[in-house]
Amino acid sequence: ATAREAIERLSRVVPDFPTPGITFRDLTPVFADGAALHAVTDALVAPFAGGFDVIAGVEARGFVLAASAAYATGHGVVMIRKPGKLPRAVLTEDYDLEYGSTTLEVHPDELERGARVLLIDDVLATGGTLAASCSLIERSGWVVAGISVVLELSELAGTTRLPGRRVHSLVTL
Ligand code: 5GP
Repeated sequence: ATAREAIERLSRVVPDFPTPGITFRDLTPVFADGAALHAVTDALVAPFAGGFDVIAGVEARGFVLAASAAYATGHGVVMIRKPGKLPRAVLTEDYDLEYGSTTLEVHPDELERGARVLLIDDVLATGGTLAASCSLIERSGWVVAGISVVLELSELAGTTRLPGRRVHSLVTL
């Protein structure tokens, strides 16, 4: 099965999660299916083959995809984490979410300057998470080689928060 077919067959719609009025797209059944995870992983990295040195994943669902993609391509993983989780000196970005506001952090000494980073997450909604992640990557002295997501929710226009970025979405709703 193709990645797109697997995503359409296995993803679930959860009304009023995590708060009333939000329609949450649940991709955990895609992660739980071995063939689907394999197809999705390959499809996330294919357009960027040869063009990146490392993969960054956003906590927590992005970690699953980033680790799978890193193993598949022989690269390492950089973890973009929620506040207070990384033990050494961090860079911090605060940003607004579809529901609330939050912070992300990275260890800026994890890679050499100029490292080309492929940034992966499960869902592109308003784009705030990936915009903040790009900022952390660039403030660390690295380069955003591209962004790959499983699902893009186009009504939230997240790509407008990512001007000039190469964004690859396996499914756009
Ligand atoms: P954004 O910052 O683009 O508004 O939201 C994206 C972040 O929130 C991602 O890390 C994503 O995991 C999470 N998110 C927002 N909406 C959804 C959704 O409908 N389903 C899932 N799985 N994650 C979502």
